[in-house]
Amino acid sequence: TATDVLPLRVEDLTVRFAGLTALDGISLTVEPGTVHAVIGPNGAGKSTTFNVLSGVYRATSGTVHLGTRELTGLPPHRIAALGVARTFQNLALPPRTTVADSLLLGRHRLTRSGFVTAGLRLPSAVREERAHRERVREIAEFVGIGDQLDTPTGALPYGLQKLAELARALCMEPSVLLLDEPVAGMTADERRRTAAVIAGVRDSLGISIVLVEHDMGVVMRLADEVTVLDFGRRIAAGPPSRVQNDPAVIQAYLGT
Ligand code: ADP
Ligand code: MG
Repeated sequence: TATDVLPLRVEDLTVRFAGLTALDGISLTVEPGTVHAVIGPNGAGKSTTFNVLSGVYRATSGTVHLGTRELTGLPPHRIAALGVARTFQNLALPPRTTVADSLLLGRHRLTRSGFVTAGLRLPSAVREERAHRERVREIAEFVGIGDQLDTPTGALPYGLQKLAELARALCMEPSVLLLDEPVAGMTADERRRTAAVIAGVRDSLGISIVLVEHDMGVVMRLADEVTVLDFGRRIAAGPPSRVQNDPAVIQAYLGT
């Protein structure tokens, strides 16, 4: 289970690219152990939000804090090391590497002895590797791919590859997980299965989740809180039942 899951606070975040304001004073808080969905029409600023949270883009102004720790301006690897893990919209696992080894690489930041390439097999390194392999197996079982540990990720059906990515992010033992369109391209069956895994990550592991997702069914079922963006501005925020019926939200979606 996640230790010390802290609130993730975004305050007055603005991101400008040459001549374009992609985010215009966005604030949101992801409460510990909840799913916070960020939705909105194309170009609304969802990916930009994600990229600032994970350190890929720099904020023009505004702040991001995890608890009292400021994340604003830190490089991606530092943010990841502080417990904010992400998945990507497109698959990012090396296709010829087995699920087990891909997940083991996901534990890299937790490793002291560099077990993956260790030439010198000290007993402590062997023990550490065994513990990591055991945890990898648990996480693979948690997401439902425990029987695929020896399969090269590229040989898995698409939906299972996406779940393997989710598992790899979980291998970092994050306190916050950023999911970029986790069910995109999936069959209805795979969507249901993935949504159940995401709910389990929140409910059983207590991890906070920021969810960018186009599938409104999945958003409405999973989210505890929804922030709606349009043209870089927050146009609505609240529980899904409220946001769903907000006239500004309906207008934004109909207008595109
Ligand atoms: P969404 O993910 O909601 O579809 P984005 O965050 O990708 O929206 O984009 C928001 C706006 O910022 C868009 O107008 C997009 O063209 C622009 N944008 C995003 N990234 C960049 C970038 N690296 N350089 C310039 N403009 C960008
Ligand atoms: Mg996007």
